[in-house]
Amino acid sequence: MTSLWNDDEARTWAAQGDLGLRVYTSRLLGRDPRLVLHGGGNTSVKVREADFFGHEQDLIYIKGSGWDLATIEAAGFAPTRMEPLLRLSRFASLSDADMVTQLRAAMTDPMAPTPSIEAILHAVLPAKFVDHTHANAVVALTNNPQGADRVRAVFGTRVLVVPYIMPGFVLAKAVADLLAEKSLEGVEGLVLMHHGLFTWGDTARESYERMIALVSEAESAVPAFTPATATATDDWIGLATLRQAVSQAKGAPVLARLDASPEAAGFSLLPDVARLATRGPLTPDHSIRTKRVPAVIGEDVAATVQAFAAEYDAYFHRHATPGQTRLPAAPNWAVWPGRGLVSFGATVKEAAIVADIAGHTAATIQAAEALGGWQALLEADIFAIEYWELEQAKLRQGATARPTLQGKVALVSGAAAGIGHAIGKVLHEHGAAVVALDINPEVTTAFQGPDQLGLVVDLTNQDAVKAAIIETVRRFGGLDILVSNAGIFTAGANIEDLDDANWTRSLLLNLTSHEQLLKHCIPFLKKGIDATAIFVGSRNVRAPGAGAASYSCAKAGVTQLTRVAALELAPHNVRVNIIHPDAVFDTKLWTPEALQRSAERYGLTVEQYKKRNLMKCEITSRDIGLMVASMAGPAFAKTTGAQIPVDGGNDRTI
Ligand code: ZN
Repeated sequence: MTSLWNDDEARTWAAQGDLGLRVYTSRLLGRDPRLVLHGGGNTSVKVREADFFGHEQDLIYIKGSGWDLATIEAAGFAPTRMEPLLRLSRFASLSDADMVTQLRAAMTDPMAPTPSIEAILHAVLPAKFVDHTHANAVVALTNNPQGADRVRAVFGTRVLVVPYIMPGFVLAKAVADLLAEKSLEGVEGLVLMHHGLFTWGDTARESYERMIALVSEAESAVPAFTPATATATDDWIGLATLRQAVSQAKGAPVLARLDASPEAAGFSLLPDVARLATRGPLTPDHSIRTKRVPAVIGEDVAATVQAFAAEYDAYFHRHATPGQTRLPAAPNWAVWPGRGLVSFGATVKEAAIVADIAGHTAATIQAAEALGGWQALLEADIFAIEYWELEQAKLRQGATARPTLQGKVALVSGAAAGIGHAIGKVLHEHGAAVVALDINPEVTTAFQGPDQLGLVVDLTNQDAVKAAIIETVRRFGGLDILVSNAGIFTAGANIEDLDDANWTRSLLLNLTSHEQLLKHCIPFLKKGIDATAIFVGSRNVRAPGAGAASYSCAKAGVTQLTRVAALELAPHNVRVNIIHPDAVFDTKLWTPEALQRSAERYGLTVEQYKKRNLMKCEITSRDIGLMVASMAGPAFAKTTGAQIPVDGGNDRTI
């Protein structure tokens, strides 16, 4: 581990004073995942500042809860008066709720974030800058039967060793007591057993570089070891089955993120992985994201998840005090022998955070084993953190109303433009992860992001279709919503004059490709969450027009396909419905000239022509998207085999 301090960068930050440098070195810590992961760790700086009224006072700028060190800004630090914090540290006891109230009351800016729960500890450490991390090497050293001895052997008297104490007031109090009796002469840091490391200094650089130096020494004390590696084998139906079981245990759909890297596969195949992986987290606050332990998947994937849920319920009842509510009993990650590590989350971001922690956990457990045995905290200590009122509140902070399709995976064909594009975007707005298929390469830029993926696919090529479905499952863990939309308008011609190629091409693209896409999706839809297939038909099915045989027959065929599929898939809880749009003119197919020509043919203005329906309204691509999102959601949970018009009312079909 080397210091990332850079004089030029530091000079820029120094223009903003002590707080600027505090932001700078906090970000340096956050840049290295071996030091802190996702919201872990905290930092502070003590300053003397004039308040709004010109009175000088001692303040501590302490990292606010909900901020990440890697991306923190000055606004992420809560300016808090030192005097009340020091007074609080002299209390014999203090409840969590009272502590948070008093921390907030001590802030000089009521709009600042709530100070870290370690604020009092930072305040009692008699140094200007204080840094705290959960460095992998330090937790490997301390999560160990001889941990305290090893720490002393490595650091000598340069650190004080604090046995595990639950973070918050009790820990701050213990450290304050320790400081009252021990001199800090020559001491550079505190090692908190099973938790992490504090360092301090007169300058931002000194505190940061002490952290780097101590962690480097801890690293060199951990024997060199090579993490196990292996080649993962694929099991896509198995992955979808696992995601379905976890979603059921959680009572809400989750995305599953598979880490099939050689390291993940290697860890999953360790002979004693079931014993190793289930001893506990690296540092207690990981349990908020990962739960205490992962599920270790056996032969029967679903049964393993159910067994995990039963054991989780028992764990809750072993430790719960009256008034506590059990969290969902589903695992947040799983070790899947031979396949790798799988992390779950309602969003891609949530699953990615869990995946990151899981990867570091797997590596650090092996390091600690090489050091003489991985020993995590007692179950009761982890429970105290997992069910800690303040930690629950921290998670709730980020919680907003859940979008209706959150955690769901949708596949939309023909999505580069027009109706398909609108469907994909509306499903995404409703919270679904969306994979968009099109032969037009624009689909890749139209759908881009952590939970949007555009794939160029020729739907008449079955191998390409199968590969796109696998990619969907690889990326998000399964498939819940298929929207089969791709289609073409073939040139109008009376049957007498109909070109054979026109007929064949319409049936291939407007009918056969839909049957093939559905066929290859069915095995995954059967493992979906409230799974549904939605086809895009046409008003033409029930109100055909002369000269449109090739188009209308294909759409009629898709309608019949929907009805048969609804019959076949109902026993598997897969709903199949069709939507019949009409007169959607906001697509590329309809140029202003084409609209003008068609309107004139009926002796209408373009405006009249666009609203040629009973309700005299214009139908847009977005209207179709909104209907599809409804049909994919709970309102249609018990509807299958239905044909839904979105046409403003048509006297030929009502
Ligand atoms: Zn900590």
